[in-house]
Amino acid sequence: LFNEVQELKGNIRVFCRIRPFLPGQKEKNSIVQYIGENGELVVANPSKQGKEGHRQFKFNKVFGPASTQVEVFSDIEPLIRSVLDGYNVCIFAYGQTGSGKTHTMTGPKESTKETWGVNYRALNDLFNISQSRKSSLTYEIGVQMVEIYNEQHTLGILTQSQPSGLAVPDASMHAVTSTADVMELMETGLRNRAVGATAMNERSSRSHSVVTIHVRGMDLKTSTSLHGNLHLVDLAGSERVDRSEVTGDRLREAQHINKSLSALGDVIFALAQKSPHVPYRNSKLTQLLQSSLGGHAKTLMFVQLNPDMNSFSESLSTLKFAERVSGI
Ligand code: ADP
Ligand code: MG
Repeated sequence: LFNEVQELKGNIRVFCRIRPFLPGQKEKNSIVQYIGENGELVVANPSKQGKEGHRQFKFNKVFGPASTQVEVFSDIEPLIRSVLDGYNVCIFAYGQTGSGKTHTMTGPKESTKETWGVNYRALNDLFNISQSRKSSLTYEIGVQMVEIYNEQHTLGILTQSQPSGLAVPDASMHAVTSTADVMELMETGLRNRAVGATAMNERSSRSHSVVTIHVRGMDLKTSTSLHGNLHLVDLAGSERVDRSEVTGDRLREAQHINKSLSALGDVIFALAQKSPHVPYRNSKLTQLLQSSLGGHAKTLMFVQLNPDMNSFSESLSTLKFAERVSGI
């Protein structure tokens, strides 16, 4: 079997990505004071005194506002490759609504190859690498999409015939042979959701979207097989909802999101600490991903930031979450 596994420093990595200013936002209102080559980040709010107004963080990497989709992907390519060697990998995008999670994972709506997000680049890579290995290994690739909303998975789009480690009875899976296949299937899946575009945007910020790519390889010489999974997760918005301002469905949604994001944080924290007890059972999301979190699995968290001063306190809480799970 191929053994291209990279020397990865630990199995949990945290990359921070700061999105650019949008039209109408003022660059002088940036919270970012310093981005270091080695993952250092300093954020500041001059109107706040003392420690809370000036904080320093350290992650595995920080991508500034000018970073491109290509640059971001080139740093995670080794992880994608390791799936073809039989590893399980989870990639998350975490951050408040509007911080660029979907941009990083999917790319903009009218995406071109230049602006493709991680999902399409990952699939494209998996197909290309599997093709290049075909004289010694044959691969089957299946894709599945699940949405977790209010602690229920409500949407399963694609299936394949392969048995999988995932217990999602309503999520069908398709064997796919090219990136074009997948893009078409994803679009069909999205169309099948009986919600309008605006409603979908709204909804997507309150649900976790999980794309799972199952890879099964067979070594032609030795007839041994391997199995790897890649989970690509666009998380629900992490913003704290003011309890005094929402009621009913909105409050319930907010509570579910809170619960599942803190459960995810607790799981990754436990793994980073090498704790003997990892609390997978506390949310649907962590149950779904259990077999791909921990053990030999590799986890990468994109921590997304909106650089605007108006989001300072939200960004600070995002950064604190990230600092905790990074185990640094
Ligand atoms: P989220 O999914 O976290 O709610 P989005 O990915 O929808 O956030 O991003 C919010 C807005 O910012 C969108 O209009 C998106 O196109 C834009 N955006 C985010 N990140 C970038 C980036 N790196 N480059 C250009 N535009 C971006
Ligand atoms: Mg989004």
